Amino acid sequence: MKVMIVDDAATNRAMLEPLLNEWGYEVAAAADGEQALRALRKETRPVLLLLDWIMPGLSGIDLCATLKKEKPASQIYIILLTVKNGKDDITLGLDAGADDYLTRPVTPALLRTRLAIGRRILEYQHALEALSRELQAKNRELNRLATLDGLTGITSRGHFNERLGEEWRRAQREDTPLSLILLDLDLFKDYNDAYGHLAGDECLKEIARILAASIARAGDLAARFGGEEFVVLLPNTDNLGTLVVAEAIRVAVAARGIEHKASSVHRAVTVSVGTATISPREAARPEELVERAERALSHAKQSGRNQVIQA
Ligand code: GH3
Ligand code: MG
Ligand code: MG
Repeated sequence: MKVMIVDDAATNRAMLEPLLNEWGYEVAAAADGEQALRALRKETRPVLLLLDWIMPGLSGIDLCATLKKEKPASQIYIILLTVKNGKDDITLGLDAGADDYLTRPVTPALLRTRLAIGRRILEYQHALEALSRELQAKNRELNRLATLDGLTGITSRGHFNERLGEEWRRAQREDTPLSLILLDLDLFKDYNDAYGHLAGDECLKEIARILAASIARAGDLAARFGGEEFVVLLPNTDNLGTLVVAEAIRVAVAARGIEHKASSVHRAVTVSVGTATISPREAARPEELVERAERALSHAKQSGRNQVIQA
């Protein structure tokens, strides 16, 4: 590890240097505060500073204050090494940001011990900062994952509910329509029975991919509503626009041709779709949008499945 001696007295520097070398430190020296500051601003590795207080120009405690503002804790550890031993000097020095305070003359043994403490603290600090960066990255990833459905990788029900609330308020503010497409796989219980639950899972993933590919605008949101039901939220979209998107999804699912030999509707997997469009000015709660789409979906089921019904 690097130790920098900052002292205007050449004799002091000359006395310390061989000791530090002997203890295995890499040694650098500066004859005043400005010179030290210039060198330390360029330094990217951690440095233990042996800092004199009284120097012409930038004093030791001024340098302390500046460095503590500029450098992260893992980069600099400052030991004030000074003849100043007045009652308030230690407090003044430590308050300026020094990590430790030694008065001259100092015995080599004490200096060696204090340097070892400084080194240990720099190493702890370094490990701590690395850990904290790792933790932050993990947290970002967790937050991202929490918004996604575990099986299909599209938006989860929980996050959909949040977004529904947000889009509802936006639509109220801007007086724009808000639309919802609710879709449910047809006879999916029979699909599971015929092909197994794992194949059923794969089928759900495929439907999620089709949905994700079917939404075009940046604000649109496709989510897993639960089980074999999905939703698509379409901000600022009217009846007609919603019907176009819903019909495109229905056709895309059937055209994908996922074999469903147990289906009485079609030879491949199909979806029944209910849509609703609402002006938040005319309804009290976002749940009304969902309820209307659910009723439309239920009609689509009753009317023979594999079709879109608008509320
Ligand atoms: P309908 O056309 O009336 O919707 O008939 P259905 O069989 O699709 O409806 P029902 O509600 O009777 O059955 C839904 C099925 O969806 C039963 C359930 O096991 C299956 N399912 C729900 N979630 C999952 C899942 O995550 N994976 C798999 N493989 N199946 C699921
Ligand atoms: Mg269902
Ligand atoms: Mg179903």
